[in-house]
Amino acid sequence: MKEKIRRAEKLNTLSDLAASIVHEVRNPLTVVKGFMQLSQRRAEDAPNYVPLILEELNRAESILNDFLSFARPELKKLESLDLSRMLDHTAVLLTPLGLKAGVMVTADIEEGIVLTTDKSLLQQAIVNLMKNAVEATASGGQVSLQLKREGGEARIHIADTGAGMNEAQLKRLGTPYYSTKDRGTGLGTSIALRTIETLGGSLSYESKVHVGTRVTIRFPLAAKTPNPPLPE
Ligand code: ADP
Ligand code: MG
Repeated sequence: MKEKIRRAEKLNTLSDLAASIVHEVRNPLTVVKGFMQLSQRRAEDAPNYVPLILEELNRAESILNDFLSFARPELKKLESLDLSRMLDHTAVLLTPLGLKAGVMVTADIEEGIVLTTDKSLLQQAIVNLMKNAVEATASGGQVSLQLKREGGEARIHIADTGAGMNEAQLKRLGTPYYSTKDRGTGLGTSIALRTIETLGGSLSYESKVHVGTRVTIRFPLAAKTPNPPLPE
């Protein structure tokens, strides 16, 4: 089951997003307000509410942070990046999250692939996609990150042995605020998609329920310019 995400189909206008963010942030704020009112009534209960209040405030904060990077991917800073090194590093970054979930994170990275791109935007997108892979995978499973040069492109694969997605879920993937997780923001994939396209790449998914998911990210590589002939 292959699905290429198309931006035009998925992205709402910014004003639709603004409306939904109001809704998303209002929920945790309402919960916080409720706990504060309870604390006002019975001060001795207040300490019990603090962790819950913090959790809700963290959630509101992460929704706003995610939204900001969603709304402003155009702030890019292009530089020549050793993609191979960056991905090696990213796999290491995700290892603790994997360990916590009992998921092995492996990397198979072809050396020396260089890309002109925005390092932090691209890394954030890949971290988002790898987090999803780990979160979809049960203990004992595996997430692999692969990079290779193929047909004039850099191809990044993120494969997991996780829950997979059916056709309907694949269709919704990349729609802002679509999440099947209790505490998901539903922005990770949208941001990754938008970022990768802004940086000149493309994103596609293959997935099978109970088998796993494979994400492919492609970036065109600059044609290798032959060395200029030496003067005679
Ligand atoms: P969030 O992770 O906050 O839920 P995302 O936009 O990152 O939001 O992902 C949206 C949804 O897409 C997830 O809730 C999950 O249902 C599905 N999803 C994304 N990546 C995968 C994956 N690798 N395997 C299975 N489901 C996935
Ligand atoms: Mg996510």
